[in-house]
Amino acid sequence: MSTEEEIDEGVFHRSESDGRVELGEIDELEDTTQRSAKKNGKKKTSLSGPDIRSIAVDDATESAEKAKLNRFLSKKRILNELQAEIFGISLPPVSNETEYVSSTDENPYIMEGDIVYTEEQLDRLIEDVRGQLFAKYHPEGPKQLSLTPNLAMRWTLPIPYYFDSEVNRTTILAGIRLWEQETCIRFTRKDRKPPGKNAIYFINGTGCYSSVGMIPSWGENYSEGQPVSLWTRGCNYLGTVVHEIAHALGAIHEQSRSDRDSYVIIMENNIKNGQLHNFLKESFLDYGVGYDYGSVMHYSKNAFAIVPNKPTILPKDPMMENVIGQKVGLSFLDVKKMNLAYCSSVCRNTLPCQNYGYVNPNNCNVCKCPPPYGGKLCDRLQLSGCGDLTLTATSSSKTITASGTEPCYFLITAPRGKKIQFKMLKFLSSEMCEFCYIEIKMNRDFIKYGPRFCRFTQTTILSETNEAMIVFQGYYSTNSFSMEYRIA
Ligand SMILES: [Zn+2]
Repeated sequence: MSTEEEIDEGVFHRSESDGRVELGEIDELEDTTQRSAKKNGKKKTSLSGPDIRSIAVDDATESAEKAKLNRFLSKKRILNELQAEIFGISLPPVSNETEYVSSTDENPYIMEGDIVYTEEQLDRLIEDVRGQLFAKYHPEGPKQLSLTPNLAMRWTLPIPYYFDSEVNRTTILAGIRLWEQETCIRFTRKDRKPPGKNAIYFINGTGCYSSVGMIPSWGENYSEGQPVSLWTRGCNYLGTVVHEIAHALGAIHEQSRSDRDSYVIIMENNIKNGQLHNFLKESFLDYGVGYDYGSVMHYSKNAFAIVPNKPTILPKDPMMENVIGQKVGLSFLDVKKMNLAYCSSVCRNTLPCQNYGYVNPNNCNVCKCPPPYGGKLCDRLQLSGCGDLTLTATSSSKTITASGTEPCYFLITAPRGKKIQFKMLKFLSSEMCEFCYIEIKMNRDFIKYGPRFCRFTQTTILSETNEAMIVFQGYYSTNSFSMEYRIA
């Protein structure tokens, strides 16, 4: 298995991992509580001895589990049917629920590849999608039908967490550290679940998955905390860890936003049978940040695809095709959104931050800047170690080159009113697009993504304004590029 395959497979789309996930543990129709309890060698009930009572309790528990599973499956089927109607496609008949489980070949409680919704959240989702269907047929109808409360629930800080003995602590701790470095969110490590309180319980479950937001019932009703599963064999990547923690903090998938149709086209005919519920639209709060193609919460272009090399998600801006689905780490806007959700009351002051920076909740005296900006007010370009950062385009061609694994930024300016023309001369790339690319940010709004190239392409690109930024990101030290630029 190549590294790329590992990364692609292991991350969010557990159901896509062609059977490599050990499904043995989950086909017993258990929910995550019982699974993790079982894994730790605990019995389902506290009754001791092989008496009749324990059998009766076990039977009752099992039939309750079965009833719960059936409720889940029928809700999932309702969502599938509603979404099919929204897409305007017909579904093959489903003879019974069991067949439906095997057709999706996944833990029945998991949706969108890695989310475990509570029943209450599923009910709200159904209500939400029903509203969307109503809106489809009644475009002039009352708008509140498509509005439901946000699914996410917030934690109080610091968030207690503890580990199952089998998890990979190093990667998880790195993910926790990253969220702490970038936001005011703090985690506090415990040996076990604090009594009466919820906590994140990192487990080595069968796949990468999490609930969305803090689920109070985990704190109240269970002996264990709310599980975030990071399977050591498939989820041991920083991008995956920060993604799953983001779900636990309340983030939904970016392409599930209810405004996603303005940004992506869902190619419903290439979605696997029984998987339409993974492409629902949900109510969300984004604090005005906007749709983020580069979010670590965005699916890749061929998620749940029947034909793997054909897309299920097509960015409306074709230049974003290589931007969506990155699992490298947090985007500037992933972080900003979470800071707005959890940290907006930390700093009482304001600062005149430039270049889309905002007051840093980890140090209220400085702004938090999108790279490559720095300085107190994000008004300076930081050195990137790749030579001259600011360049001037003239009518004669000049060349920029860079190599290695550090990100390199080049800000190129032409006289006002002129545009800049770029031509790729050389690109020794790696196979891993998300880790190795050349991006051309086409105008002064540098937090916007530009066309991203993952291999040498014989093309000429024209900037939109008199300023453009080139970003080079290598994965191996042997990766390098050179590009020619001049006034168009
Ligand atoms: Zn996810």
